[in-house]
Amino acid sequence: APTVRFEDVHFAYEPARPILQGLSFEIPAGRTVAVVGPSGAGKSTLGRLLFRFYDVQAGRITVDGQDIRGVTQQSLRRAIGIVPQDTVLFNDTVAYNIAYGRPEATQAEVEQAARAAHIHDFIAAQPKGYETMVGERGLKLSGGEKQRVAIARTLLKNPPILIFDEATSALDSANERAIQAELRAVAQGKTTLVIAHRLSTVVDAHEILVMDAGRIVERGTHAALLAAG
Ligand code: ADP
Ligand code: ADP
Repeated sequence: APTVRFEDVHFAYEPARPILQGLSFEIPAGRTVAVVGPSGAGKSTLGRLLFRFYDVQAGRITVDGQDIRGVTQQSLRRAIGIVPQDTVLFNDTVAYNIAYGRPEATQAEVEQAARAAHIHDFIAAQPKGYETMVGERGLKLSGGEKQRVAIARTLLKNPPILIFDEATSALDSANERAIQAELRAVAQGKTTLVIAHRLSTVVDAHEILVMDAGRIVERGTHAALLAAG
């Protein structure tokens, strides 16, 4: 897995309103760095910049030392998997949704990913046709089931870099704990940026960054941040 580095990153959606004001941190190869802080702090913006939905206005983001502006968007995005808060599914089968982004995947590979994410019951029912459809035409998946589809999709894609953007924030507490455990397993050995609300969910991160108003106001391990109050 690669090392990801944000170096003195500046960014604004609108020129008059700077969002990130000189942000630097590193996610060492295969480790997890978590970002916590109040809503509006700029946490999700970090993920959007790494995926190049937007480009930094000053400073740079590197993957193994290479500025991501020098990498094709296609190869960058192949290397990154995102699990968002609310996974938007296509109005098609669960299997189609898992394979999205990797249409060349075999049925066996899709089934293996579905099994690992515990969503296999839904693709197994595929011959029933419309009953396995998700979205407005058919079966409605719960929030937890949708996140399992997102996890299966990520397992199938198997990218070296992961972004979890409040991936369990929309779930009830029973689902939240189950999906959190699965996300931790998926992140093993991957270079992972975890965006979270609460410090309590990111106990085992290599480093936790506390953001406020576009700046890192505190950083350290979970234990160190707790000790600092
Ligand atoms: P967080 O993830 O910490 O809640 P965000 O990174 O989503 O924060 O947003 C940081 C700031 O940028 C917020 O003030 C938000 O209103 C603003 N912002 C986010 N997206 C846009 C956008 N597309 N255009 C303009 N402002 C935006
Ligand atoms: P919160 O409940 O605090 O809002 P979120 O659910 O928004 O947190 O985001 C935290 C997510 O990141 C959780 O889904 C959790 O599974 C995942 N996560 C937390 N710590 C790690 C870690 N060390 N490695 C991988 N994933 C993690």
